[in-house]
Amino acid sequence: MSSIIMPALPYKEDALAPVISAKTVEFHYGKHQKAYFDKTAALIKGTEYENLPLTDIIRKAEKDSKAVSIFNNAAQAWNHVFFWEGLSPKGTSSPKGKILNLIEKDFSSFSVFKEKFTDAAVNTFGSGWVWLVLSGDKLEIQKTSNAATPISQGTAKPILTIDVWEHAYYLDYQNRRQDYVSAVIDSLLNWDIANERLTG
Ligand code: MN
Repeated sequence: MSSIIMPALPYKEDALAPVISAKTVEFHYGKHQKAYFDKTAALIKGTEYENLPLTDIIRKAEKDSKAVSIFNNAAQAWNHVFFWEGLSPKGTSSPKGKILNLIEKDFSSFSVFKEKFTDAAVNTFGSGWVWLVLSGDKLEIQKTSNAATPISQGTAKPILTIDVWEHAYYLDYQNRRQDYVSAVIDSLLNWDIANERLTG
């Protein structure tokens, strides 16, 4: 049996509404994300990847020109789990503690961070992800295209991410990516998890 098992969502499908509707979560988690997990499991079956943990599959496949599909599906599987875990239905909408100290050190204020994070999301061309990462002792914003993920390089530790593929917001916001990103930052980013990830 494959080691690739999709974890349950950490909350109910309607828990993020109205910022992200139950319908979007139903399709995003139940169809898109499930397909990434199912395809990863099917692609690694009987290969040298079969019994590796998901993060090892991603790092190995990225260097393997014959494993592009494995990389794309495995990285998307990992990115989605990380994304949902970084959101909170309760909307811990303002950072506290160590993460706030770092945001103020590296971006000067939370409102400047929000502006830069939103700009990065809006300016990610096509499908991708925007990330808050810890690089050394400094917070940075990164954009990745398609399935690319900061964990494959191993140089920066991801703290939070927002999925900016159209499937993440189109049912609720149509083409208004900026409104989606802004609402997620205001209401859903889980800053308690961000603090845990800084030291985890
Ligand atoms: Mn997605």
